[in-house]
Amino acid sequence: MRGLVFDIKRYAIHDGPGIRTSVFFKGCPLRCWWCHNPEGQRPHPEMLYYSSKCIACGICERVCPLGAVRVVDGRVETDRSLCDNCGVCVEHCPTEAREMAGKWYTLEELMEEVERDLPFYRSGGGVTASGGEPLMQAEFVLSFLRRLRERGIHTAVDTSGHVDPEVMRRAVSTTDLFLYDLKVMDPERHALYTGVDNRLILRNLMLLDELGARIWVRFPLIPGINDDFENLRAMGEFVSSLRNVEQLNVLPYHPLGVSKAERLGEEQRRFERPSKELIDKVVATLREYGLVVKVGG
Ligand code: SF4
Ligand code: SF4
Repeated sequence: MRGLVFDIKRYAIHDGPGIRTSVFFKGCPLRCWWCHNPEGQRPHPEMLYYSSKCIACGICERVCPLGAVRVVDGRVETDRSLCDNCGVCVEHCPTEAREMAGKWYTLEELMEEVERDLPFYRSGGGVTASGGEPLMQAEFVLSFLRRLRERGIHTAVDTSGHVDPEVMRRAVSTTDLFLYDLKVMDPERHALYTGVDNRLILRNLMLLDELGARIWVRFPLIPGINDDFENLRAMGEFVSSLRNVEQLNVLPYHPLGVSKAERLGEEQRRFERPSKELIDKVVATLREYGLVVKVGG
């Protein structure tokens, strides 16, 4: 059994309590317009291209077995419809202008990676399984969480909630804390902005709540998308009706995904970053529902 991971972030302080190691699993059923990690969406390894590091030497054009790369007037173009992400160009690129997102790990290899940070977990931290949607790789991730638990390491799962309820139910026994994303409350608007409607997501959150799981709700604040009063009211009413949500974290939008999408040969919409006034207003509105609301983390 192997798991596909596209990043491991050490000394993370915004992915749950204490100092943590966040493991980012590749593959996600959502396609959010503002995604911070577009390289984590597809469930297979992908080649990234950093134009700023490229010296247009043409090696990738020569070694690509599928003829997907062309150098035209000093510009390097990759035809993504031909590229099968084999990684040959990555191995040969002299400047690391090409990189693979996604590496396969066995359970033992991944445990070895995270156990290097054991001393930091004494801060009340631990390991967070993030993504992508970590529970898309359910068997591997649940085994990983179980193994962490056996080693006495605190476990958190950062989830979109769009997963099989049976998987969610099983995750409860191996997860100390759920970081649960809520984006837009209206199902049609949710479908427009993320590619899926939110009925399953809301049902799974209620399920976790009924099962007594510890939950922190995470709300990515995107101006013009989900900062309207109607959405905030619906979110405040829904979240405050649950018993086990300990806090609601407002995560102000950052255009991090825009340049990452370019490295995949894609374009991502750019939104305005929320002003301090907007953040304050959103926090105050959500607090009216009796919730513990924090900005970030
Ligand atoms: S091998 Fe690397 S540096 Fe050379 S053209 Fe290709 S991407 Fe650019
Ligand atoms: S990843 Fe493989 S197929 Fe894609 S551009 Fe590089 S060498 Fe060609």
